[in-house]
Amino acid sequence: MVNTWDQLEKLQPTILRMLKNSLLKHRVAHAYLLEGLKGVGKKEVALLFTRALFCEEKVDGYKPCESCHNCRRILNGNHPDVHIVEPDGLSIKVDQIRELQAEFAKKGVESLKKVYLLIHADRMSVSASNSLLKFLEEPNAQTTAFLITEQPQQILPTILSRCQVLTFQPLPPQVLVNRLIENGVEPTKAPLLASLTNNLEEALALNVDEWFAQAQKIVVKLYEVLDKNPLEAMVTLQYDWFGHFKEKEQIYLGLDLLLLIVKDLLYIQINKEGNIVFKGEIERLKKYALRASSRRIQIQMSAILEAKRKLQANMNPQLMMEQLVLNLQEGSSIV
Ligand SMILES: [Zn+2]
Repeated sequence: MVNTWDQLEKLQPTILRMLKNSLLKHRVAHAYLLEGLKGVGKKEVALLFTRALFCEEKVDGYKPCESCHNCRRILNGNHPDVHIVEPDGLSIKVDQIRELQAEFAKKGVESLKKVYLLIHADRMSVSASNSLLKFLEEPNAQTTAFLITEQPQQILPTILSRCQVLTFQPLPPQVLVNRLIENGVEPTKAPLLASLTNNLEEALALNVDEWFAQAQKIVVKLYEVLDKNPLEAMVTLQYDWFGHFKEKEQIYLGLDLLLLIVKDLLYIQINKEGNIVFKGEIERLKKYALRASSRRIQIQMSAILEAKRKLQANMNPQLMMEQLVLNLQEGSSIV
């Protein structure tokens, strides 16, 4: 797992730079709100910073050593002055916040320092939020809070205003590809997933989704029949495509897949095969790339982008797709 300072710095350079400065200048806030998509390293960064606060042998004055007694206990989840609160069932309940307050009313077990993490802080019940607010209003000099959330808009503004907000960036595509492979995704499938979402959990869910596996086959088939006769393309559209892509979100995903095929053809033509995302279809794509001129590929790309705009503007999906197929075929006379 990614968790050392150097590893997390590659994922979230801006945030780590800020945290480094606050450690070096001894200006640590009482409360931080860490917000961003799932899988971007929020909890890992909160725990890293916690280790930096407790570490006895910091490297360069800010990096936790990862091997002293305190670092090891935090890594193992058994440091007596570090508390992690997660939703009990659907929400974080007022009793959980009260327990935390009771705990913090005591002195730190080993020093005066205490840290708590609230995971899914947006899921606090109203009474838990109010209770936390009082807690934040009377900060103990040595207490540091990390509120972690994917949905900062759900957090009470009065709580937000008492936190230093750290906004996490989505993972860079190559980092996401590597994390997908670490999580057991086949290397040939990871680039496509990473180009459709920058959310690790979402990509992992797509990877095992039967609907998505079928969707890829249909999109490749539709692209393949474009060059045959117009009638066959319309038949594929009516039976395969509309039988599968029903909801608006599904149609968007279908159009994105189509766009990625066309982009791959472009990468093949400009000798950048490393950028291809449909790795499993590479031989077939090479044949298409030989047949199509780069001008035609550009026309197809614009046609797909135009279709996405029409869908956004609530055009009837049936009509939008029929026009798209005609537009994609029209390019075939251009050599
Ligand atoms: Zn240490």
